Order: sequence, then C-alpha cells, then structure tokens
Amino acid sequence: MRVLITGGCGFIGSNFIRMALSQRPSWDIVNLDALTYAGNPANLADVEAHPRYRFLHGDLRDASLVTRVIETHPPELVIHFAAESHVDRSIAGPLPFMQTNVMGTAHLLDALHRQRQGRLVHISTDEVYGPLALDAEAVTEEAPLKPSSPYAASKAAADLQVLAYARTYGLQAMILRGSNNYGPFQYPEKLIPLMTVKAMQGQELPLYGDGLQRRDWLHVDDFCRGILAATDHGRWGATYNLGGGNERSNLEIVTRILRTMNRSEESIRLVADRPGHDRRYAIDSTLAKKELGWTPQRNFEQGLEDTIRWYLDHKQWWKSAFTQEG
Ligand code: NAD
Repeated sequence: MRVLITGGCGFIGSNFIRMALSQRPSWDIVNLDALTYAGNPANLADVEAHPRYRFLHGDLRDASLVTRVIETHPPELVIHFAAESHVDRSIAGPLPFMQTNVMGTAHLLDALHRQRQGRLVHISTDEVYGPLALDAEAVTEEAPLKPSSPYAASKAAADLQVLAYARTYGLQAMILRGSNNYGPFQYPEKLIPLMTVKAMQGQELPLYGDGLQRRDWLHVDDFCRGILAATDHGRWGATYNLGGGNERSNLEIVTRILRTMNRSEESIRLVADRPGHDRRYAIDSTLAKKELGWTPQRNFEQGLEDTIRWYLDHKQWWKSAFTQEG
C-alpha cells in the first residue's frame, strides 16, 4: 500500500515510521517533511536506506508543491502528523501555527479531494477540548472544542476542516486525538526532555505557576500502536480519543525526573505562569478501546525512566537538535 506521511521527521512521526516499517510489510512509505527546527533527519537515520521508505523535502504551506506530491505519489493512505506543535512558541508567534496547521492542512485536504486520492488519518490532540475542572469526568469525542492557545486553536481548525471535507465531499477521513506523548526523539523544548536536559546540565528547572497543571501522559509507542490499530479497525468518519490514563501534575513529573537522576528538588524554580495555561486535560478513550481494540501497554513510571535514560544516552542527539536550530 502506498502511504504518505507528513511530518515524519518529528517526534511522533519518526517513531511511527520506524514502527510501521517493521510491522506493516506491505507499506511503501513516502515521508513529506519541511524540516523545520523540530524535524530532524537524524531521527530516522537507521531507516533512511530502507527499500520501502522515501523522504521528500517539502512544505505543506506551498499549495502547488502539495498538489504535485499527491499527483506524483498518489497515496492510498495519508497519515498527517506535520504541524507546529509547541504551545509556548504559538504564544510567542501564532502565525506560523495558522500557516502550517490550518492552511497546510487545507492544502492537503484540497489536493486529496481534487485528485480523489487516499484516505486520511489526521493526527490531533486533547488540547482542542480546552481546560477541564479537576473534579470533572474525562471528556469523550462528543465534547465541544474550546481551545485556549493559538496552537490548540489551529489544531481545532484543522480538525473542523477534516470533518467538513468528510461531510461535504465524502472524503474518507478519521481524527485521532492523542494526549501528551513522551518518549525518545522528542525535541528538548517539551516538558520531559527539557527538564531532563536541564537537570543533566546542572541548571535550574523552571516550572510554570504552581506546577499543579495536570496532563495525561501517553508513551509514544502506545500512540503509534493506536494509530496502526486505527488504520486496521477504525471507522472512516469517526474521531477517537487516545489517552494514556496517566494523569500527573507537572510538579510530579519534574520531581520524578530529579529523583531518577539523583538530583536535588531544590533546583525547581517556580516562574510566572504561561498566559491562558489550561489546568487540566483528560480524555476518555473508551471508544478507541472498544472499536480499535487498543489499550496503552506501557507502564508510566517505567516508561518515564526509560525515556530519561534515552536522553542521558543520546547527548549528541539533543545537542545537535539545538545546534541545528541555531
Ligand atoms: P514535532 O514538532 O516533533 O514534529 C512536527 C514535524 O512536522 C517536524 O518534522 C516538522 O519538520 C514538520 N513540519 C512542520 N511544519 C511543516 C510544514 N509546513 N510542512 C511539512 N512539514 C512540516 O511534533 P510531534 O510532537 O511529533 O507532533 C506530531 C503531531 O501530533 C502534531 O500534529 C501534533 O499536533 C500531534 N500531537 C502531538 C502530541 C505530543 O504530545 N507531542 C500529542 C497529541 C497530538
């Protein structure tokens, strides 16, 4: 099967491509990636010469390039990971998020629709639902979208476009909303790699506000397994929440990182909160469990320890990621 993956050089996309090449022997994968600061070809160095893998350097913001790619590599399945993905960056400068996450997705949808090509699995996030009260039930796929950050708003806009193309034009599409992923190859700007790298360098660990914001952590291998399960068993037209069932406060995460690394908790420094910082996300994954036969496998404490170990063992990787950004 001809599979087009967008954003495959980033954190989740690269883990997914590695898993798909080993578990889906019939897939021929084309990876279209613009190689932004977050896209690193080194993430896929071990598979770059794989006979069923091909890399295309290209930007989804370029509508004619997207059309050309769909024409020359007509996909049977598209898995759309490419996005600007960091909330802090979206607050500092929202426009690149609108250009890639909203318009980039629009270009992809338009090219697929006009050329009547491929089914689309759109990778989205729990952040589109907005904040949840501490005592509220986890949200299902039916909950309204109330995004807080420019990042979440741009992802919600992408989701709505996908639903509109499915409804209006009959595009076969599915939306997967994952909770906070962690694991190897995550750019060291996100909480777990950032704090691990800072602790390694003996720096202070800045934590927003009171550090009690809660997130639901999902190992990237479990998310990738869920995406594969969706391509096998998912209903076209459906949206699925994929959550890890591991709600933790940011303070708990950072404390655990420091303990694992035998560092003092005194290096935690509470700093001014992020504007519009959501207190809690929690999604109900019952539908995915029922229809996809998916449940997360990784134990969180062990997964976190393995992840910390990976960053300790791959200093060169994260140092070169920073250098590449300049
Ligand atoms: P990432 O920032 O690590 O990687 C994004 C990739 O997209 C990079 O390789 C980048 O070069 C590429 N890209 C960016 N703009 C592009 C453009 N205009 N054209 C082509 N390629 C472009 O992101 P990630 O953490 O791997 O997230 C992947 C997807 O999963 C995103 O859609 C994100 O919203 C979603 N998601 C992430 C998480 C998480 O915790 N990281 C959780 C749920 C959903």
